[in-house]
Amino acid sequence: MRIFLKNRDQYVCKQCGYNIIGHLPDKCPFCRASSEQFILAHECSEQFSVVKSQLTNNIFKLTTKPNLGIEHTSWQINAATSSYWIDCPACFDPKLKSADIITFTHHHTLGACNLYREKHQAKVRINRSDSQHKLSQPFDFDELIEDNYIEDGLEAYHIGGHTPGYTMFIFDETLFTGDYFFTNDQDLKLNPHGNKKETLAGAKRLANILKTRPIKTVCGWDTTPYEEWQPKFAALLGLAG
Ligand SMILES: [Zn+2]
Ligand SMILES: [Zn+2]
Repeated sequence: MRIFLKNRDQYVCKQCGYNIIGHLPDKCPFCRASSEQFILAHECSEQFSVVKSQLTNNIFKLTTKPNLGIEHTSWQINAATSSYWIDCPACFDPKLKSADIITFTHHHTLGACNLYREKHQAKVRINRSDSQHKLSQPFDFDELIEDNYIEDGLEAYHIGGHTPGYTMFIFDETLFTGDYFFTNDQDLKLNPHGNKKETLAGAKRLANILKTRPIKTVCGWDTTPYEEWQPKFAALLGLAG
């Protein structure tokens, strides 16, 4: 299979899954891997696939098999009227039907959204600030968002911080945080990449939103019960006790 894209080649970094449209970079702009770590998108489609696993009745986790380095996790929501992807798999899997709308926590997780957009006419939606980053320029966006919104039960909150357009989502008592936090058994840390002061300010904005929202599960790289996640989040912000 060969993917033709307006005569532009597309490359995928095997260490982080970032998709580069139009040229082979000397280094991955995202994880700094060398150019030898890149494969063409059609090679990626041949060597990898995207697996969908069910989290709740309406929420599914999308992961690449075998693992594509440190690739982000993407999530599918089947809402009443439309289906949504929050972040897009890095691998274009021709057997996978995309959601009606592909939206993003931020521009690091664009994945192969342009290929799913072409194949399935998915609408691609991102915060305007993140659409303006130079890495976003080769991608086509159908909708640029500037504010919070609620649509079809999906709540989107513009948090900013790690990237200027960073957006978190809530659906059915599930919070989607993308890569805003790094976690281990003991604690939660803010993603160190980006403006540290703004990232902390964004986390405080999230804390305010969570005061009024019942949450059961947090989906970032993986899923964590809110009762486990919340004390770590409170400790991170110095709110514990
Ligand atoms: Zn990379
Ligand atoms: Zn990121």
